[in-house]
Amino acid sequence: MKELELLREEAGKWNIELGPHELKRFEDYYNLLVSRNEKMNLTAITDPKEVVVKHFLDSLSVASVIDLKEVSSMIDVGTGAGFPGIPLKIAFPHIRVTLLDSLNKRVVFLNEVTGDLGLDDIEAVHGRAETVSREKSYRESFDLCVSRAVADLSVLTELCTPFVKMGGRFVSYKSGSCDEEVERAENAIRVLGCSMEDVKKFMLFDSSRSFVVIRRDETCPKRYPRREGVPGKKPL
Ligand code: SAM
Repeated sequence: MKELELLREEAGKWNIELGPHELKRFEDYYNLLVSRNEKMNLTAITDPKEVVVKHFLDSLSVASVIDLKEVSSMIDVGTGAGFPGIPLKIAFPHIRVTLLDSLNKRVVFLNEVTGDLGLDDIEAVHGRAETVSREKSYRESFDLCVSRAVADLSVLTELCTPFVKMGGRFVSYKSGSCDEEVERAENAIRVLGCSMEDVKKFMLFDSSRSFVVIRRDETCPKRYPRREGVPGKKPL
């Protein structure tokens, strides 16, 4: 797959070194994604170059705002077909990764991918963030929570920050300018015991992308997140 050279080269710009072993894992992941996509809806993007840029490199681009070498545990909320969690696990195998999604057929696919790629210290969990983050072993347990294309930032802040340990971070992948979304999320960020650390805007080839970095400063109040569906219907 000739696009792997582009992946290696561009990832190198964020100091991510992908050797032959990692590139082979990306290729195997691509092949599984495209073949299973024929029977189940995993992604609208299947062209090899587009998958490399819009899924693989986009997932890895968080390395431009977070030092992933310092991260030991990470949860990806609403991971779908594994983005950004699986590319990050391939590139940073030392991280203990939890992939969370509310759709079981996607979790079945994720288990197939992690098994076939031989990834260790990674689990795929079927459930909704509102419920799973109330479990003791998940609540305020992760150095890093990431989420891409799941919900508006005010909703996501309630779904994601309860997973983040004190001093840890939630990073939301957003497209385009997200200034208004960030403004609307200010109340949720404060109420959930967090603060806004950074908003970084950048171009990934011809797409404008943003990262919103939110840090946990205080324990999450027990009443959050509210029950399933409420964060989406009545954002804080
Ligand atoms: N993050 C992936 C990506 O960027 O390609 C998938 C994005 S997809 C549009 C949103 C995913 O979030 C779906 O797979 C859906 O099942 C999941 N999801 C939505 N709400 C959720 C919740 N409350 N808890 C867990 N997963 C959720």
